[in-house]
Amino acid sequence: MNRAVKHAVEKVNPAANHLAEMMNNRGFEYVYGPVASRRLGSSLGIDLVPFKICSYDCVYCQLGRTTSKTVKRKVYFDTKKILTEIQEKLTAGLAPNFVTLAGSGEPTLNSDIGEIISQIKKSTDIPVAVLTNGSLLGLKDVQKDLSAADLVIPSLDAGDEYLFNYINRPHPGISFKNMLQGLVEFSRVFEGKLWLEIFLLGGVNAIRSEVDKLALCSEKIAAEKIQLNTVSRPPAEEFAYAVETERLNYFQDYFPGNVEIISENWTTETTSAGLSQTSDTAILELLKRRPCTVQGISAGLNMKAAQVTKRLGVLCQNGKVIQTRINEQIFFEAEKSEQS
Ligand code: SF4
Repeated sequence: MNRAVKHAVEKVNPAANHLAEMMNNRGFEYVYGPVASRRLGSSLGIDLVPFKICSYDCVYCQLGRTTSKTVKRKVYFDTKKILTEIQEKLTAGLAPNFVTLAGSGEPTLNSDIGEIISQIKKSTDIPVAVLTNGSLLGLKDVQKDLSAADLVIPSLDAGDEYLFNYINRPHPGISFKNMLQGLVEFSRVFEGKLWLEIFLLGGVNAIRSEVDKLALCSEKIAAEKIQLNTVSRPPAEEFAYAVETERLNYFQDYFPGNVEIISENWTTETTSAGLSQTSDTAILELLKRRPCTVQGISAGLNMKAAQVTKRLGVLCQNGKVIQTRINEQIFFEAEKSEQS
């Protein structure tokens, strides 16, 4: 365990030290999983930026509010270390369906993403996917960097500037017009697969007039398929409501081409390593002792934040954990019945 994590563990809870030792995921800093993904099957996740460094601050973000909103691309981590960890995981005999660049913020902000993709491609046949908010896809550098990926999944949540600002709360340097133009352009030059994710929020963009606008925008984007998604894990803001599956089904016909609803089946989620069950037990043990934020749990158990949020989604859905907002931060605690 590195010193920073160790320090954070002690700050969170001394009792977590013991758990952290038990749960230490072999000390991987940038690679997590494989985790079961609704869209990608078994996915080996790679974190390319520190926690919540992003060009957006989406109201529905499962990681909480953005701590550093930026459009500055740079090398955030030691690229060699990232590649070594990926190599180590892959030579351990894991065979995920995808190596996925995603994690705790916007991966295209890492200016070494192109190098990382090409090195992964040299060392394995496992396809590489990039989950991106799409805000930087208009940049030629980003287009070039992502060109070797097999699959890119960008997001589009609004059909005009007003809702774009309301839902995604972008960096001031990003306008709706430029973002959309970049997305359209990228979809035409990218030679791999592109799936467009549209995130619908109850009472915000999941209304006919807004879905009409989204459908018009998506017609311009050359996507192999469109995936309609909604809130399934605790969001950054309490007012970000999920849309019922019937409503998602209803809106499916509004969009062109191949449209799918991302199904919810969290209770059956597992990983090839059986990590989910172990993780849930460790998280519950920690939350029985005191409420924690995602970052607190992540530091306390030495788990990637993205992995923690996935497991919290399951635990909240199963009624084992509840969330509460204290001083503008979201905390999680074990349900009373779990405390005994
Ligand atoms: S949902 Fe993605 S794009 Fe939006 S704030 Fe969170 S990490 Fe950034």
